[in-house]
Parts: sequence; C-alpha cells; structure tokens
Amino acid sequence: MVDLTELSNFGITTQLTVIGRNPDEQNGFVNPPLYKGSTIIHKKLDDVEHMKGRFFYGTAGSPTIANLEDAWTHLTGGAGTVLSPSGLGSISLALLTLAKAGDHILITDSVYVPTRMLCDGLLAKFGIETEYYDPSVGEDIKKLIKPNTTVIFLESPGSGTMEIQDIPALVSVAKKHGIKTILDNTWATPLFFDAHGHGIDISLEAGTKYLGGHSDLLIGLTSANEECWPLLRSTYDAMAMLPGADDCLLALRGMRTLHLRLKEAERKALDLAAWLEDRDEVEKVLHPAFKDCPGHEYWVRDYKGSSGLFSIVLKDGYTRTGLENMVEKMKVFHLGFSWGGYESLITPVNPARQRKAANWPHRGFALRIQVGLEELTDLKRDLELGFERLAQEISVAPLQI
Ligand SMILES: *Cc1c(COP(=O)(O)O)cnc(C)c1O
Repeated sequence: MVDLTELSNFGITTQLTVIGRNPDEQNGFVNPPLYKGSTIIHKKLDDVEHMKGRFFYGTAGSPTIANLEDAWTHLTGGAGTVLSPSGLGSISLALLTLAKAGDHILITDSVYVPTRMLCDGLLAKFGIETEYYDPSVGEDIKKLIKPNTTVIFLESPGSGTMEIQDIPALVSVAKKHGIKTILDNTWATPLFFDAHGHGIDISLEAGTKYLGGHSDLLIGLTSANEECWPLLRSTYDAMAMLPGADDCLLALRGMRTLHLRLKEAERKALDLAAWLEDRDEVEKVLHPAFKDCPGHEYWVRDYKGSSGLFSIVLKDGYTRTGLENMVEKMKVFHLGFSWGGYESLITPVNPARQRKAANWPHRGFALRIQVGLEELTDLKRDLELGFERLAQEISVAPLQI
C-alpha cells in the first residue's frame, strides 16, 4: 500500500485511489467502515474533563468524517477541511468564518443565486454589508475597497454566466489590503484549479456536483490555508452542522472515479459546445475553453481543464412558446437544477434581474447545459429537434425521436 507520507511521489489518479482509507486498520477491507454515533467512550477522567482526542463526541467528527476531511485536505493542499450537509452550507460557513457585524464584503455579481440570497438576507440581518462587483473587474477591485472590507468572494466561472475571473489579480489586491478571499471552486474542482496554490484563503466545493456524480448526494467541503484554518474549524465547531456518515462514504466513493467522470464530461462538453457554436440558432457559446467566454484568457493561463457545464445564448427573436416547446419536450435533456451527475440537464439562465454591478449584455434567451454520460449523437439529436420546435411558433404534437 502506498504510504501517505510518500503520496506526492505518485500521480494524481493513484493518489485518488489511496486517500481516505487504510486497509491495514480495516481488517484488510479495501474501503473504510461506516462509523455512526453520538457517544464515544473514554477511558480516562482527564480526557472527558478536557474533551481530549479528535473524537470526543459525535459532533466533533468520526473516523468516517475524518477520512473524507483528510482526503480532501490532501487533494486541495489546504491546512484542513470541514464538511457541510450541502454546498450552500459550506458557503455560509466560509462567510460566517470571515465576516462579522460592521464589515463590508465584496461578492462577485456572477455568484450562485442562493449565495446572493444569503448575503442580502441573513448576513444583512447581522450587520454585514454586501457590495457586488463586476466578475471581470480584475485589479480594479482596489477601487471598491473600504476601511471595513474584510472579504472578497469569488466564483469562477460564474453560475450560469460562466465568466472566468482573474483570480491572481484579485488575490494580490486582497493580500495587499489584508482582506481574505473565498472561492467557490465547484465547477473546476481541485483537479482543474488549484485554489490554495493560487493564494485563496478558503476554498469550497459543492460535492453535490462532481464528487457525488450520481444526483443522490448533498454535501459541501470547505478547505482553508494555514492562516484561516483555526478560525474555520472553530466556526464549524460552534455550529456543528455536519453531514451524515452515509453521505461521507458516498463522497469518498465518488472521489475514486472523480477524474474519469470529469474527463468524460470535459470531452463531451467540448464536442457539444463546438457543435452548438456552428448552429444558426446560437448567438454565443459561453464555455471557458472557447474564445467568446469572458475571461477565456484566464482559463487558458490558470486552469488545467474544463468540466461539463456551460451555457449558450440564443439569437434574439425566439418566442417564449418556442422556448417552452424546445425544452419541455426534450427526451434526453431534462429541466432540473444541480449538475455533475450522469444525466444531461438544461436550465434557463436569466441573470438580468439580479445583476447590480455588471449588466448582462445579451437579449436572447440563455440556457445552461449540463452534459451527462449519454451518447453525444443522442444529445445532439435531442437539441436539433428542440431547435426545430424553438423555431416554430406553436408546436402541434410532441416530436418523437
Ligand atoms: C450547486 C452549487 C452550490 C450549492 O450546492 P448544494 O449542495 O446544492 O447546496 C454552490 N455553488 C455552486 C457554484 C453550485 O453550482
């Protein structure tokens, strides 16, 4: 068995097979056992009085939770990881770790909508002021900094709108002003973007997406660098919002095949995006690996790959009825939130109403596409028939594939 101390001598796919388990301590079983529980029995009075040991009560963790935490810490190169019952839980945990009453925080205008709701609702209630910034602002973010600015929150690419941010520029301004950075790294995962290596203080992943990979799991993972780790851990301990042990095991299992599924999603999405770029109905393809995507040059510079989620903007002039006929009658793509699973999804993107700092420049309908594991020919045919329905004002009967 590869020793954990020599792990970095091995390739990343080998590392993914080794982390978070130890057959020598598992009676030889390949996978770790499932620990569930509240109470841990202690032998020493002193241990109980001083809450000693990594596992002194269920809320402090379990070997199952620790396996996933340690594996993720290894993968992200952070100083430590805590888990949450959802990706949104990780976002709240990260923000509550670094922001306090009276602070001003800067959030990208391309952010995942529930993050916006958290900032405008709960955080505002606790006296934290949110200002949204243009995702393509780069080092000009310094013009938005106030004496009480404590956090810059990044999400790259932006949810649905796909802007890649100039992360090194934002990190460098933040460091100069003693401001902490949080990155929602869900799209890239640590395999395609090294958040802590680029100076991000707290990085989070909705493991619900690619780590789970089968649309049967909600989990969030938050890692921190050396400086922010003690504060992140103590915020987590104060709230004790932890996922169930079964879900940790599902996430660990997903980790073994993460690179395979990501690579396949990447391959299919690149193929499909190129095909869509040639379609008459499509105005723009917003995929970080394509030139039309804002921040494409930063993706080329900083990222090691692209995953299976991208958006398209349709030409202006199609009707709402046409759009409904297109998406509601699809056979392979379905309407639904979340992504990173084995099934293809299509969802409308409509950021115009929410935007505060960066106007959405497009007039046509926009659609976000999650590419699953189905055959590319089936996906293209489904879209092709959908485009035909889009172009007809009113469709009479559902088309059959
Ligand atoms: C889905 C998603 C989340 C939230 O994850 P949940 O587990 O669904 O709460 C956070 N950030 C991004 C970018 C997401 O796509």
